[in-house]
Amino acid sequence: MLKLSALAAVLPLSNLFEKTQAAKVDKPIVLSTWDFGVQANEAAWKVLSANGRALDAVETGARVPEADPKITTVGFGGAPDRDGRVTLDACIMDEHGNCGAVASIEHIMHPVSVARKVMENTPHVMLVGDGATQFALESGFPRENLLTPESEKAWKKWLETSRYKPVINVENHDTIGIIAMDSSGNLSGACTTSGLAYKMHGRVGDSPIIGAGLYVDNEIGAATSTGLGEEVVRIVGCHLVVELMRQGNPPEQACRIAVERIVKKQPQKSKDIQVGFLALNKRGEYGAYCLQKGFNYAVYSNSIKNRLLDSKSYY
Ligand code: ASP
Repeated sequence: MLKLSALAAVLPLSNLFEKTQAAKVDKPIVLSTWDFGVQANEAAWKVLSANGRALDAVETGARVPEADPKITTVGFGGAPDRDGRVTLDACIMDEHGNCGAVASIEHIMHPVSVARKVMENTPHVMLVGDGATQFALESGFPRENLLTPESEKAWKKWLETSRYKPVINVENHDTIGIIAMDSSGNLSGACTTSGLAYKMHGRVGDSPIIGAGLYVDNEIGAATSTGLGEEVVRIVGCHLVVELMRQGNPPEQACRIAVERIVKKQPQKSKDIQVGFLALNKRGEYGAYCLQKGFNYAVYSNSIKNRLLDSKSYY
């Protein structure tokens, strides 16, 4: 094997640094929140392993839980709001800092793809409510009924008490956040959710908010979040995680510091809620951290073939 000193003799120093750093990066790689992230990663990996773009991979991955009626926290079959309306939130961000989002969109199975159209075909970053739905229909997305008989039944049961207190790790939330680096080393991310079950009509959490539920900086890394969105918005969570990585913190540590900030701001409340962050840096290192035990995420790379890992937790 060629010694570093011998390499240095033939390469300029900066070039040598890039080469030795590049050798360590396990790319492509994709990470997704929760156990349904395994299926999302599977679809994303098909794109990444064919040398596809991270942006296409995260969109493809996010569409899997969106279309699955058994997943009651994302897309089709997602729990409705208290008025029985399925309103969805999503965003997407690419390696150039381009981003798009939709919030409180109705009747559209793939909000992540609408978010991408907002990014690519409009001068805007976010469309909401009727405007988002109208844009999706005009862009050719079919109008669909997203309320499945099962979700409707569960909502009617909920109406009997109408108790509304977001609790931890149960099926009233769980967003898919998906972040990836492609074989060219470019990063992208996406996030899509039906938000809190039986939320107030019009409620929007962190998931479609760039900087809160998702952030990508192609020089540094990418982060996404899940859990009680209001708490993530308060600290602009994913932007914070990426900035912490910029300051030199490894991904897990960056996620931990963000979680600790939530605890510091709301020590009492933080005991009863869940928030989880998932991050990937430009070197292909990744990590997660959450408030309560129970948050997991799926990783797929050449060396790790789609494994579900448990996040460390504050409590
Ligand atoms: N973050 C989502 C929201 O607040 C829900 C979740 O991920 O559990 O809408």
